[in-house]
Amino acid sequence: MKRALVTGIFGQDGSYLAEHLSGKNYEVHGIVRSRLSSQSSKLRTHLLQKGVTPIFHECDLSSFASVRDLMKDLRPDECYHLAAIHYSAQTVFAEQFDNDRYLLEQNILSVLNLLNAIREVSSATRFVLAGSCVMYEDSGISPQCESTPFRSNSVYGTSKIIGLQMTELFRNLYNLHVSTAILYNHESPRREEHFVSQKIVKGLIKIKRNETERLELGNLDDVKDWGFARDYAYGMWLMAQAHSPGDYILATGTGHTVADFVREAADALELEKWPEVVTVQPRLTRPVTKTRLVGDPYRAQTALGWSHSLDFRGLVRLMVQHAATNTLD
Ligand code: NDP
Repeated sequence: MKRALVTGIFGQDGSYLAEHLSGKNYEVHGIVRSRLSSQSSKLRTHLLQKGVTPIFHECDLSSFASVRDLMKDLRPDECYHLAAIHYSAQTVFAEQFDNDRYLLEQNILSVLNLLNAIREVSSATRFVLAGSCVMYEDSGISPQCESTPFRSNSVYGTSKIIGLQMTELFRNLYNLHVSTAILYNHESPRREEHFVSQKIVKGLIKIKRNETERLELGNLDDVKDWGFARDYAYGMWLMAQAHSPGDYILATGTGHTVADFVREAADALELEKWPEVVTVQPRLTRPVTKTRLVGDPYRAQTALGWSHSLDFRGLVRLMVQHAATNTLD
């Protein structure tokens, strides 16, 4: 029986990955914080109801000794590092600023500790890091492929670039099977409410039910390459199965604006009055980035046989259907 260790196991992607690994008969272990957030608790309960019962460990990812001890005990076949502090586009700047130091500590030290622990005590472990398309946010090139130069315009993006570069370094220096998945936006019924996709879906449902009157959003012209989280978890698994390690873009290759998302969700809800209920709120508006973040998944398609199963319309409709019935996928 194969053994996998997943950080961020009760997050959106971690929960899909845990389900996939369970279905493949893995012994699934997860790293969690001592106090689960309400969202993580919700997804944990959801997994249990689906018969997915990972063994979880409280481990401080910023402590090398703790990470090394756990790695030594488990010596997993595969390790997926999904835990990270990240912001939604809806997070206001003042909050971001306060959190930068914590974000850097968590996102960078955790990668370094996991890589070093693998090198020291479990060198056969295959490692996949969750990277992000925001690593290209200031590149000025669109669509992006794996050779597009990284240029971020946020502390979060910079932390992801450093994570990818450390992974590459360990791959080259120590010949480890370590890879980075360059993930474009991916959503699901398991997405937290403060992310724009879920905010739109839940907000429009409340308007449809006359529970509220307005939906406040930031830039409606912001373009995102939106995919379905279950597909991205599967892509990360494929990366760990590949003969050789490497970095791969996981994206749909198609961009849609926030306004498109609103329109599609309103259409699914038969809410014709949507243009009257959406307000652009300057507090939530971010400076427009010079790069249209749309990824070219050609390498993942050809080398891994990966492709997305759900298009934009299917994704929005899945989210609407689950939010309307208050269920998780
Ligand atoms: P979620 O926020 O849904 O999940 C992240 C999980 O990590 C949460 O369960 C969180 O726990 C946990 N976590 C955070 N820090 C720690 C820590 N120090 N120790 C243990 N657990 C921790 O994110 P997603 O599943 O959507 O994203 C997974 C990864 O993919 C992240 O690295 C993210 O940066 C990256 N990514 C995601 C994209 C997307 O569109 N979803 C796009 C690009 C990259 P808790 O809730 O208790 O805080």
